[in-house]
Amino acid sequence: MPNSHRQSAKFRFAPSPNGELHLGHALSAFLNHDMAREAGGAYLVRIENIDQTRCTPALERALLDDLAWLGLSSDAPERRQSDHLSEYQAALQELERLGLTYPAFMTRGEVKALVAHSERAGNPWPRDPDGAPLYPDLDRLRPPAERARRLDAGERHAIRLDMAKAVAAAGAGLGWTETGSGEDRWITADPLAWGDIVLSRSDAPGSYQLCVIVDDAAQEITHVVRGLDLYHATAVQRLLQVLLGLPEPVYHHHRLVLDDKGEKLSKSNRSTALATLRREGFSPSDIRGLVSL
Ligand code: GLU
Repeated sequence: MPNSHRQSAKFRFAPSPNGELHLGHALSAFLNHDMAREAGGAYLVRIENIDQTRCTPALERALLDDLAWLGLSSDAPERRQSDHLSEYQAALQELERLGLTYPAFMTRGEVKALVAHSERAGNPWPRDPDGAPLYPDLDRLRPPAERARRLDAGERHAIRLDMAKAVAAAGAGLGWTETGSGEDRWITADPLAWGDIVLSRSDAPGSYQLCVIVDDAAQEITHVVRGLDLYHATAVQRLLQVLLGLPEPVYHHHRLVLDDKGEKLSKSNRSTALATLRREGFSPSDIRGLVSL
């Protein structure tokens, strides 16, 4: 049973400080805030700054400032991923203990070359729901002795989930309750479509997928409200929650704000940045109007 029925509702808006907030973020934050108020629950802001190569404290300050201006500051102190690295490490170790992970040595360049080679030969490479090539089988199939030798030699590697094994371990019936269409619907999850996802890299202690489920559980989030671009990622998040025995939130994926060309807004497009609109004299209620709320 989704835990929303057991405890008071908790919602979260979880931006990454790797660019300026734009109208798409405003829609998500307004919806989280409004739904939390309607449910008599809490609205929490989480700073998803696990990718320290792209996230900066200055961008974090700017996004908190934008949210304060919109009247969307967190009901409790913000959770910041960089403060919780040991929790992601513990989740990773548990998946390792369950025998569901393996070290992945291929570089991005090697994967790209392999995919290009296969496609030039007329064999289309399978892709995940975001269109990225699935990780090749090679590392999963490496003989244990070779794996041990490369680890002993200190070779750089990521940790990946053995997806087929993980899905088998989770058992049948994997899915989630989706309320984005206005009614409660049960969605069957298909995590196999993502292949062997990355759980941690040598330069990032946790991947988005690993950190997000640890954070949602730690903050006792009952309702995950976010853009439709993360709809398919939910399959992986439900899988990891089941494997780690974490509670199941309700999911609500909302429409995306699109630009004039019908494309999803990007962080590099300054014209829809909240800071720009604010400088141009738009008010918080104008911003609500711009995202059709
Ligand atoms: N940090 C993600 C983003 O900015 C959101 C993750 C989530 O809501 O699950 O797109």
